[in-house]
Amino acid sequence: MIYWLKKGLSRRTLLHKAGFGLITLGAASAIDTIFEPGLTLAQTGPAPSKEPPMPPAKKLGWAVVGLGKFATEQIIPSFGECKRSKLVALVSGERAKAERYASQYGVNPKNIYNYQNYDSIRNNPEVDVIYIILPNGLHADYTIRGLQALKHVMCEKPMANTVAECQAMIDAAKKRDRKLMIAYRAQYEPYNLAAIELSRSGKLGKLKSITSDHGRNLDPKDPADRWRMDKKLAGGGSLYDIGIYALQATRYITGEEPAEISAMLYSTPGDPRFREIEENVHFMLRFPSGVLANCTSSYGYSDTKRLQVFGADAVLELDPATDYYRHRLMIKRKSGSEEMNIPEQNQFALEMDHLSQSIMDNKQPKTPGEEGLQDVRLMNLIYEAARTGRTIKVNG
Ligand code: NDP
Repeated sequence: MIYWLKKGLSRRTLLHKAGFGLITLGAASAIDTIFEPGLTLAQTGPAPSKEPPMPPAKKLGWAVVGLGKFATEQIIPSFGECKRSKLVALVSGERAKAERYASQYGVNPKNIYNYQNYDSIRNNPEVDVIYIILPNGLHADYTIRGLQALKHVMCEKPMANTVAECQAMIDAAKKRDRKLMIAYRAQYEPYNLAAIELSRSGKLGKLKSITSDHGRNLDPKDPADRWRMDKKLAGGGSLYDIGIYALQATRYITGEEPAEISAMLYSTPGDPRFREIEENVHFMLRFPSGVLANCTSSYGYSDTKRLQVFGADAVLELDPATDYYRHRLMIKRKSGSEEMNIPEQNQFALEMDHLSQSIMDNKQPKTPGEEGLQDVRLMNLIYEAARTGRTIKVNG
């Protein structure tokens, strides 16, 4: 459900108009709501599902591969909010850590695997789906082995280091008639879905331009950032890790593929973090409809995850756009700014349940391997455009 703060009446809107910026209002502000004329619930975003969870015996069993930061802090806890998916197995190089999480989340210790006996997961009928949450350079190998074990696979972004690896993953899924989905969580997250709907339905007027910026400071002290400095494990730098969110956003907002790409790349000389991978990438895309996108990614600027869509009638601002739990969506018109208030939902549970549902219905998931391959292909063209200084025609 989407609430619009009442135009001209809400404290927040008035403060915005008066130039005071944002203040935090309590839940009571949600009652101050109307729907923008012409907007309907169905048009603007998903209401939280009232559907009850499936009984545990009917849920699909998932194995998580790699018990790092993202897996343990976001994904594993989110199974508790899944309606069609349950955690049944863990794969880790550290037995003691896996046992700790197994006991915390009720996973049978017999379902703990390591990287040596991973392939024997084929013999475990409790496991339907394997979720690869390893460093990027390992995605292809573990995805293909998971598919060879006749399991369905969800693989984290970016799909793999090269186009050839992505294609091999897609081929492996087809050969075994298994589903392969790339974990593009933003495409299951309600604020991003609302942004897509508002942009594509003409509510902003004809789209002219998109900007998106994704950056953070890479921290060599954080174990999760160490492999990100290693080209073989990371595949690339800020573009591969977080610029991919900006690239994705331009594609899902327009519903188009870019026709032309130009780019520039810069890394601070002498900074040991950037011996193998790049710090900053700026790239521009032209879409067939005429929309121009201007995106940045950085491993050197302060935390940023934002998206702006400029239409002839209104500007949509999502900032943060791709956070885990907090999003903020503003629509700015000449007459003033309004904030949309959408109930947050657990995007990780939504995306995992999407794959479980796709398997149950034998349907292609919304973000299949081909979607991941396209981003890897485009990111490689962005690097090429930066290296050559040329504007690249995507299908030329
Ligand atoms: P971490 O380093 O925290 O986790 C990676 C885990 O992989 C390690 O903890 C380890 O688990 C296992 N591993 C196996 N081999 C290696 C190796 N050679 N070097 C390092 N780790 C290894 O990274 P993240 O959790 O941040 O990222 C993992 C993946 O998830 C990446 O592909 C990343 O892009 C993606 N990601 C996606 C996000 C999203 O929002 N969709 C957010 C963050 C990350 P163990 O000790 O159990 O073997």
